[in-house]
Amino acid sequence: MKIQSYELYEVAIPTRRRHVWATSTVDVGSGYLLIKLISDDGTEGWGECTAMAEWGGDFGVYYGETRKTCRIIFEEFLFPAIEGCDPFEIAVIHDKMDKAVRGYPYAKTGVDMAVYDMLGKALDKPVCKLLGGQYRDRIELGHSLGINLSIEEAVEEAVMVQQTGFHMVKIKGGWDPARDLELLRRVRKEVGPEMHIIVDANQAYRSAKEAIQWGQRMDEYNLFFMEQPVEGLEQMAQVTDMLRVPVCADESCWTPTDALNLLKYKGADFFSIYVAKPGGLYKGRVIASIAEAAICCNVNGSGEFGIGNAACMHLAASSKCINLPCMIPVTHVDGHPGQPPVYSFIDDIITKPFEYEDGCLLLPEGPGLGVEIDMDKIRKYSI
Ligand SMILES: [Mg+2]
Repeated sequence: MKIQSYELYEVAIPTRRRHVWATSTVDVGSGYLLIKLISDDGTEGWGECTAMAEWGGDFGVYYGETRKTCRIIFEEFLFPAIEGCDPFEIAVIHDKMDKAVRGYPYAKTGVDMAVYDMLGKALDKPVCKLLGGQYRDRIELGHSLGINLSIEEAVEEAVMVQQTGFHMVKIKGGWDPARDLELLRRVRKEVGPEMHIIVDANQAYRSAKEAIQWGQRMDEYNLFFMEQPVEGLEQMAQVTDMLRVPVCADESCWTPTDALNLLKYKGADFFSIYVAKPGGLYKGRVIASIAEAAICCNVNGSGEFGIGNAACMHLAASSKCINLPCMIPVTHVDGHPGQPPVYSFIDDIITKPFEYEDGCLLLPEGPGLGVEIDMDKIRKYSI
């Protein structure tokens, strides 16, 4: 079996509403590149590059990508490097991509997802079984309250998601710790003691000391954990050392090397693992394996469509260390009963919405990523 050809699509789906965090400037979902790889025996695999121009690691590393840069990188570097490769040699494929061009994890993620989808279809196995096995058949979800919501809107939404079965809400913060504390206090008052509440500052607290001072006050309202309060390993380690509340690394945890350094220098208590940050499922599993030694983790998405959401679920299902609710912004489909009320898109490019039950997404069944692509929708939303 050999990777023989490809098709590319650029797609944007309207969002239910804007979702903003401290460092975001571009609207989620304003256009992604979809990659279809085709093998010499006609097997197809789909991948998604959910590139974000302003999303990256600490201090400007892992530069932002866009759907246009993903297209150029794929056509000029990645496909020539992997053309003719055996899709069963996923490690070799990553090595070839990394030698062809440094960086560009979103573009590489699209290839990685498509190769895994193709492999699963060729073997008639779900992708999680190619990643180590299926530890769980459902993924517990958390819900993210955008920083653009007013206190009243955020409190109302937290109550609403609790009523639909969620056990964790994330407060997007970072611009003003006093506002974050006040929102935490108000949400805690409304949702009671059982609900997990986290604050994600997206690196935006101005110093480790500021994060520590406000984090200690947040502890009073039983903050479950604080996500990426500050920028950089050194400051993250200071906050982790000083706070009783656990600290989760997101922007500081892009690559397996980041994960090793976070462990070595005690830069976090938890990891937020993505499919896209390290460049796909293969390296996401490497981070999960590193984390299994000592760390609690979740898998978080960044506004994926159905292909990417399925990949996030397969990574979460196959990783033993995923024991925190995951932020997977699954697509809302109007009229589908039981859809979780998460922010996301008003439609999707897959034929069947994901199943949702008691605050959990059910892992899609079927070979590969377990999703079927709706070509009419791809045409409808092409840009
Ligand atoms: Mg985060």
